[in-house]
Amino acid sequence: MLADPSHILKTVYGYDAFRGLQEDIVDHVIGGNNAFVLMPTGGGKSLCYQIPAIARPGMGLVVSPLIALMADQVAALRQAGVRAAALNSDLAGEERESLWRAIHEGALDLLYVAPETLLRPEVLDRLSRVRLSLIAIDEAHCLSQWGHDFRPSYRQLDILVTRFPDTPRMALTATADAPTRAEILAHLRIDPDAAFIAGFDRPNIRYAIAEKDNPRAQLKRFLANHDGESGIVYCLSKRKTEETAQWLRSEGHDALPYHGGMDKAAREENQARFQHGEAVIMVATIAFGMGIDKPDVRFVAHFDLPSSIEAYYQETGRAGRDGLPAETLMLYGAEDVALRSRFIEESGAPEQRKMTERQKLDALLGLAEAASCRRQVLLSYFGDTCEPCGNCDTCAKPPKLFDGTIAAQKALSCIYRTGERFGQAYVADVLVGAGNQRVLDNGHDRLSTFGIGTEHDVRAWRAILRQLVAQRLIAVDLAGHGGLSISEAGRQFLREKPTLMLRVPAAPRAERTPASRK
Ligand code: ADP
Ligand code: ZN
Repeated sequence: MLADPSHILKTVYGYDAFRGLQEDIVDHVIGGNNAFVLMPTGGGKSLCYQIPAIARPGMGLVVSPLIALMADQVAALRQAGVRAAALNSDLAGEERESLWRAIHEGALDLLYVAPETLLRPEVLDRLSRVRLSLIAIDEAHCLSQWGHDFRPSYRQLDILVTRFPDTPRMALTATADAPTRAEILAHLRIDPDAAFIAGFDRPNIRYAIAEKDNPRAQLKRFLANHDGESGIVYCLSKRKTEETAQWLRSEGHDALPYHGGMDKAAREENQARFQHGEAVIMVATIAFGMGIDKPDVRFVAHFDLPSSIEAYYQETGRAGRDGLPAETLMLYGAEDVALRSRFIEESGAPEQRKMTERQKLDALLGLAEAASCRRQVLLSYFGDTCEPCGNCDTCAKPPKLFDGTIAAQKALSCIYRTGERFGQAYVADVLVGAGNQRVLDNGHDRLSTFGIGTEHDVRAWRAILRQLVAQRLIAVDLAGHGGLSISEAGRQFLREKPTLMLRVPAAPRAERTPASRK
């Protein structure tokens, strides 16, 4: 019988329907094509390779980084009647040989293997004599050198491209921003057209982001909507976590602190109270998160700027797991940005890594300063899309905009004139005509674009540049030194010059208090 995907879905997994893009992906891979799959955790990636592996002739090879994870998957598959096994280094000699016999006899649908094991020459040799239905590389972001989970052995998986050129390749991950995505596609030679990105939207979560004005008053207003509900307030430091919890208690809330400086017993007690409590506010550092499984978290507030869009997405994603409406608020101020920048500069990380971190911070600020729907900006960061959502602060109350057409033209031509290789700070300096040594050394004080932007200050220009990055008119060279260049959309903008509305930068000159003016 030719195995039909819906039939496998029903008989093996007991599900009636595919979710989201699963069916498209399964059909695409059964057709013998490569695929890149980006879906959030819990999105249902496993079926995307398991079903094609079962449906196609031959054995599916699954590269997975964690032996424990493999064991779970294999056990679940076997329970469902799928012939699955894991090849790992701690198999005893006899067991290993009987597994190899099964592999060669075509008695397996799926074989899980860690990259280190797979890359051993004798393993590759033996597999080259086996009919493979597909090769799925799970947690594919581990091959990105600039990611947080880099594993050198993952990097070498590109050998599969030459060793098994005719076997469909799949790369799957839950975390990949645009540059990481591009890196995975390029490294594993997967066509960008074969990228399936979906399921990042959490429609029941309302997003709001505001500049800190009077943060405690802002938080109080936010919490006033959530009487009797449980939620999380994220703070940057242990001290602030303690102080904020104490302040909230004095305001009559049942607020508990949670941070890495507390002893384990106290942390566990607070977590348990949050988990089972009715109206508990957990005031926490990012130490709180792993393993929270409370479906009715009704709100998440960031009292300080999170570290990246990924972190923001994950942390806000702890709200509304039950699918009922949930609300989020992120507060940020100039001092948060300065502090984050200092963390990065003083991290002792290699320059390349710092560069990536700076870009991530800029992307987050781009979201904070977004002139359009937050959800659209957030999803576009993950490669996903949506219509203006009507369920975020910018949809509800569009921010003050100005006609930024001229500003964008000036910024883009300045990037062009300086050779499309300098970062944000440098471009802003040239725009305002700041003749610092680097600018002078490069002779950029003689450019026609030097000082063409004195109507904004450096800070405002940096905010404008961030918005242009967020709108994808400017591309950032993440693998290099963060140099800005003009994207295809940016070139089109320069040719057609459509009106471009931008958000008024946080503290434009005209709106500063007289005291701060010179
Ligand atoms: P991921 O690997 O993306 O984190 P999983 O593949 O583990 O996600 O799937 C998450 C959960 O969703 C699993 O319990 C899985 O059985 C379930 N699931 C996946 N696809 C479907 C579907 N089409 N219908 C119902 N449940 C599904
Ligand atoms: Zn919106």
